[in-house]
Amino acid sequence: MNKEALTVGVGSEAKFSNGSLLRVTILKPKRHGVASSTAIHEAMHAVVAKRRGLSVKTATVRPGPGYLGMVDTGAYDAPTFMAPAAMGCDGGGHDEAVVEYFGDSKSAAASVGRSIVNENPHEVAAVANLLDEKGTVGDGEIQTRMNEVRDDVVLGENVIVTIIHPNGRREDRIERAKAVVVINETEDDSPFARAA
Ligand SMILES: [Zn+2]
Repeated sequence: MNKEALTVGVGSEAKFSNGSLLRVTILKPKRHGVASSTAIHEAMHAVVAKRRGLSVKTATVRPGPGYLGMVDTGAYDAPTFMAPAAMGCDGGGHDEAVVEYFGDSKSAAASVGRSIVNENPHEVAAVANLLDEKGTVGDGEIQTRMNEVRDDVVLGENVIVTIIHPNGRREDRIERAKAVVVINETEDDSPFARAA
């Protein structure tokens, strides 16, 4: 029997060579709830900035002159600016204008920003909640909150492992995870998943 192993991070997907899709999602993020739309917008700026190696001097959801919230990274970075607009958030007009001003491709920047947000949805949610709690935060608090999200996974949070077979059949099971290794028995017509 051929076995194929895939390693997939929480929030990611991968395909087995027989076409089965593997998806891993977190079951109960420790912090969740509905964040304000301004907090989600600013959290996307902040998480993309951090993921691209910038430091966030300040992030706020307290309105100021001409803005509902803002993130100051001290440096211009096109994907950081474009991320909220790329994800369909309101209030990205000024962000897009800045990217245009610097002469960068909005679509290229949007694509990079979007993939970082899609790869880190729980970090965005956690930082958005942090902003709603505190109003204004700095780099250290944001980094701490992002680390806690990762620690949740390392400490063995429950995740949902989903396999969608080429014939459309779907299997869901709950596993404890950091990175989840799933073994697909490709010669078996009912492949199953194991997580370690
Ligand atoms: Zn913005």
